Amino acid sequence: MAEYDYIVVGAGSAGCVMANRLSEDPNTSVLLLEAGGKDDNIWIHIPVGYIKTMSDPGVNWLFKTEPEEYTYNREIPVPRGKVIGGSSSINGMLYVRGQARDYDDWAQLGNRGWSFEDVLPYFKKSENNTSMGTEYHGVGGPLQVEDMSETYPILDAFIDAAEEQGYPKNNDYNGASQEGFGYYQVTQKGGRRYSVSRAFLDPVRGRDNLKVETDAFARKVILEGKKAVGIEYDVHGFPREARARKEVVLCAGAIQSPQILELSGIGQPELLREHGIEVTHELPGVGENHQDHYISRMAWKVKQPVTLNERTRGIPLLVEGMKLLFQGKGALTMPAGIAHGFVKTRPELETPDVQYHCAHASFSDPHKRILHDFPGMSLGPCQLRPESRGTVHITSDHHRDAPRIKPNFLKEELDRETHVAGLKIARTILDSPALDPYRDVEIVPGPDCKTDDELLDHARRVGGTVFHPVGTCKMGNDPMAVVDDRLRVSGIGGLRVVDASIMPRLVSGNTNAPVIMIAEKAADMMKEDAR
Ligand SMILES: Cc1cc2nc3c(=O)[nH]c(=O)nc-3n(C[C@H](O)[C@H](O)[C@H](O)COP(=O)(O)OP(=O)(O)OC[C@H]3O[C@@H](n4cnc5c(N)ncnc54)[C@H](O)[C@@H]3O)c2cc1C
Repeated sequence: MAEYDYIVVGAGSAGCVMANRLSEDPNTSVLLLEAGGKDDNIWIHIPVGYIKTMSDPGVNWLFKTEPEEYTYNREIPVPRGKVIGGSSSINGMLYVRGQARDYDDWAQLGNRGWSFEDVLPYFKKSENNTSMGTEYHGVGGPLQVEDMSETYPILDAFIDAAEEQGYPKNNDYNGASQEGFGYYQVTQKGGRRYSVSRAFLDPVRGRDNLKVETDAFARKVILEGKKAVGIEYDVHGFPREARARKEVVLCAGAIQSPQILELSGIGQPELLREHGIEVTHELPGVGENHQDHYISRMAWKVKQPVTLNERTRGIPLLVEGMKLLFQGKGALTMPAGIAHGFVKTRPELETPDVQYHCAHASFSDPHKRILHDFPGMSLGPCQLRPESRGTVHITSDHHRDAPRIKPNFLKEELDRETHVAGLKIARTILDSPALDPYRDVEIVPGPDCKTDDELLDHARRVGGTVFHPVGTCKMGNDPMAVVDDRLRVSGIGGLRVVDASIMPRLVSGNTNAPVIMIAEKAADMMKEDAR
C-alpha cells in the first residue's frame, strides 16, 4: 500500500494551500486526493464562465437544500466545486476577508491564536495585492488580488447614490474599516480567474514529494482504534487505500468533511447506527452548526444600453471577446458582484451587518443566471452574521450519496428583520438622484411589494445562498466542537479538518480568502506540531 507522511483529502481552497505548504520540505511526502477532475474546462478560466460552471456537473457537485417551510419549500441550489481548485475554480472571485471582530470573536470563544491580530499575517502571507497598501495587505504571496479590470459610469453613479444616502465611499473594505461602498477586488490576473490551483498548486507540481490524484473519491478514514492511519478511496469505482505516517487532513469543504467523518464512524451515534455505520467515536457536533449567507436580489430596468445584459450578446459580445483576448478586460471578466456595499441596518451597531453585491446586469432566473434581454441592474443584500443554524448529514452509508443539507435560512427573527431592512436600504439607494440618468422601473420585486411582510415574502420566494456554507465541524472546546484550536479532531489522533467547516461562526463576508488563511495557519501549526 502506498505510504505518505500526509494525506490531504480535497484539492479546494484549503487543500491546495495545504499541499503546497506541507510539501515545502522535500523530505515530507504528501498525497493530495481530489474527487473531481483537472481544471481544464475553459469556462473556469474566463471569469464570466462562472455563470456556466454554476450548473455544469463536470465541475460542480450541484447539491440542493432540503425543502424548508421558511423558504416556501423550495430546493435551493448549493453549487460546490468538484474539480482541482475546488470551489475557488467556480466561485465569484470576490476577495473579501470579513471583519476584524469576526476573528476576535473566534478567539473570545476560547480559540487561542485566532484573533484578528493572529490571523492578519496569514492573510498577508497568501496575498499578492497589486494596488492596496501594505499595512493590511500582502505583496509577493501566491494569490493574485487585483482591482476590477474596468469601472463603469453606472456603477460610479451607484456608489455616488449610496454616498447621497449617507454611506461613505470605501475602496479598501479589507483594510481598517469594512463599512462603505466601492468596487470589489478580485482574485484574477490579467482578466483570468486566479484559483487556488493556479496560485498554490501549479507552481509546485514539479515537486517529487507531492502526488496529486484526480478522480479520487475518498470513502472513509482508516482508523486503528482512535488513530487515523490512512484513507480508503476509489478511482473510477476501483477501490484504493493509502497510508499516512503522520496525519490525514480533511479539506473536503463544509458539506463533505462532515460526510467523510460520519462515513468513518465519527459523529452522532444514533444517526450512524441508523445508516448501519459502526460508531468509532461519538462526536455530536459533526454536521451541526451549519451557517450560510442568504441573498435575495432586487432588479431594475435601466434606461440606457450600458449594462452587461446587452454587452454579452451579438456583436457587442464579439467586441468583449476581443477585449478579453487582447487586453484582459471587459464584460467577460465580470465577477459575481462588481460594486460592494457594507452597511449597518441599525445605528447602534458597531460594524456592518449587511453586504450588497451590485452589478449592472440582471437575471430572469437568478439561480441559473439567465440575463434579461433588456438593460438592467441588480442589487442583493445578505445578512452578514445570520443567527439561523442548520445541519448537513449523510443520507446513507455510501460516499456517492449526497448529504442532506438543511440550512434553515430565515428561520430566526433577527435574520428576517435584517434582510428586510437590507432590501429597504437598497431601494433608498436606487431611488437616489445620482442614479436618475440610469434608473428605470423596479422589476423585482416591483413597486407593488411595499410592506415589510411583502418584502419578506419576496425574500422567502426568490432568495438563495451566496455559497458560503461553514461551521459543520466547528472549532472550539465545548461539547459540540469537532476540532480544537489546532484543528485536530477531538478524541482522534492523526486527523485534522482544515476548511470552511471549522469556522465556529460565519465571517462577515465571502469565504474564499478566510479559508485560504485558515489553511496557511493550519500548515504552520502542523509543521510546529511535527517538530
Ligand atoms: C458558485 C460559488 C461562488 C462563490 N463566490 C465566492 C466569492 O466570490 N468570493 C469568495 O470569497 N468566496 C466565494 N465562494 C465561496 C468560496 O469559494 C468557498 O468558501 C471556498 O472555496 C471553500 O473552500 P473549501 O476548501 O472549504 O472547500 P472547496 O473549495 O469546496 O474544496 C473542497 C474540495 O474537496 C473535494 N471533495 C469533496 N469530497 C471529496 C471526497 N470525498 N474525496 C475527495 N475529494 C473530495 C471537492 O471536489 C473540492 O474540490 C463561492 C463559492 C461558490 C460555490
